[in-house]
Amino acid sequence: MHRNLWIATAVAVATLSFTAPVSAGENPKDVAFLAIDRNTDAMAKIGDSIYYFAELGMQEFESAKLLKEVLESGGFTVELGGAGMPTNVWAKWGSGKPVIAIVTEVDALQEGSQTPNVFDHKPLVDGAPGHMEGHNTHGGVATTAAFAVKEAMQRFNIPGTVMVSFGPAEEQILSRPFLVRAGYFKDVDAAIILHIGDNSSTGYGLQNYAAISSKFTFHGRTAHGAVNPWDGKDAVDAVELMDIGFDKLREHLRPTYRAQRTITMGGLQPNIIPDTGQIWWYVRDATGPAAKETYDKLVKIADGAALMTGTTYDVEYVASAWPQIGNKVIAGAIQKNIEQVGLPQWTPEEIQFAKDFQHARGVKEVGLSTQPPPLGTRPQSSSSNDNGDVTWNVPTGLMNFPASVPGILYHHWAAGVTPTSSIAHKGMVIGAKVLAASVLDLMTSPELRADAKKQFDKDTQDTKYFTLMPPEAKPPLDLNRAMMEQFRPAMAKFYLNEHPKFQ
Ligand SMILES: [Zn+2]
Repeated sequence: MHRNLWIATAVAVATLSFTAPVSAGENPKDVAFLAIDRNTDAMAKIGDSIYYFAELGMQEFESAKLLKEVLESGGFTVELGGAGMPTNVWAKWGSGKPVIAIVTEVDALQEGSQTPNVFDHKPLVDGAPGHMEGHNTHGGVATTAAFAVKEAMQRFNIPGTVMVSFGPAEEQILSRPFLVRAGYFKDVDAAIILHIGDNSSTGYGLQNYAAISSKFTFHGRTAHGAVNPWDGKDAVDAVELMDIGFDKLREHLRPTYRAQRTITMGGLQPNIIPDTGQIWWYVRDATGPAAKETYDKLVKIADGAALMTGTTYDVEYVASAWPQIGNKVIAGAIQKNIEQVGLPQWTPEEIQFAKDFQHARGVKEVGLSTQPPPLGTRPQSSSSNDNGDVTWNVPTGLMNFPASVPGILYHHWAAGVTPTSSIAHKGMVIGAKVLAASVLDLMTSPELRADAKKQFDKDTQDTKYFTLMPPEAKPPLDLNRAMMEQFRPAMAKFYLNEHPKFQ
């Protein structure tokens, strides 16, 4: 449905566009870089505004509103609410093939609130969420790069469509399987996923792990633990037996597997036979099918635990992800742009700030990155990211941009110190340029797209994508709502109230 609407809008936008004659020596990448240089203030304001919104997954309402506003100021058509998620942002400019998508996220983390540029743990609002993984910078980089690509396409009459996707709740590994299932990536020819880093880098091959997360709730019958326990069916016994059962399985799983659990309902008090017990599982492995195989065994163990205890159970799907597979051909193109764009010209003050920060955090005082790493296979990590599902459906390049301080690890309040600093702002400019140039490469080179597709076909030859979600899975729209409602009034006092526009 959204597609038809877009076609109409795209035609309208295309008719209105005005193109001055192209002068000799001008090229699309230079036009894009100039557009980025012209909009560095807007880009910084977008990133900084989102930092102070600090919204948790599925509650990115202010961030989504701002992204829509700025993308519209740049001529994009923006849809909010796709795939049943109110904070999903899907934007496009242009029409027809090729379709190149920029994919990222802007959600914050629980208890990440931090006063910027201060080395001590000093929350802006006690206990509130905050950007301790710098996702706020993604908002600035993705929108500004998309705008720059549009400027170059317009100037050179380059055919095609540039898409921008901000998926909700990346930190909960949530939204991308829903976007894929809803068909958003069906017509996309290639994609680039961006993420903050402490250097400009790309990689290819399997980059992280598949994951499936579900809660198993057992239902029994309550009774007095001392008076008539024989009338009871103990749901927490079932939870324990499921845990023990899986421990017996561990020996027979691939060495690559990971599995963790937490008991989320464990009864009320000892003399009440619990009629409800719940255990929440994460099952991971190096590939989607391997994770699914272990997960299916886990479900069998739940069957056994229920049988042994005379209980029943239901499963609540929480999240799933395929491992990211980075396309080697696109990585090669990104690497060339990384080397061409270079790294920021850091001032002595910025380098000293980074060293003082590293000293304060007890890590190696290396300052800031000045040399991008050479292209090579980055090792596969055992963490997961829901945009993995995109990479099994579309040839996808992965890129990191140098907007944080080496040695300062994410998911820690310390990573909330610099995402609005000049270090972040300068790294964002580099990120936007590498991203815009790489999107333009894909947009303008049929050979590059064909090679990337060939690589994709090879990578996915033996492993075909299937969704790890059960068919009835729905996005959990209430996720993090109570927490955001609790903290938003105090956090709102810090909002920048900026309305950046592209020019
Ligand atoms: Zn992230």
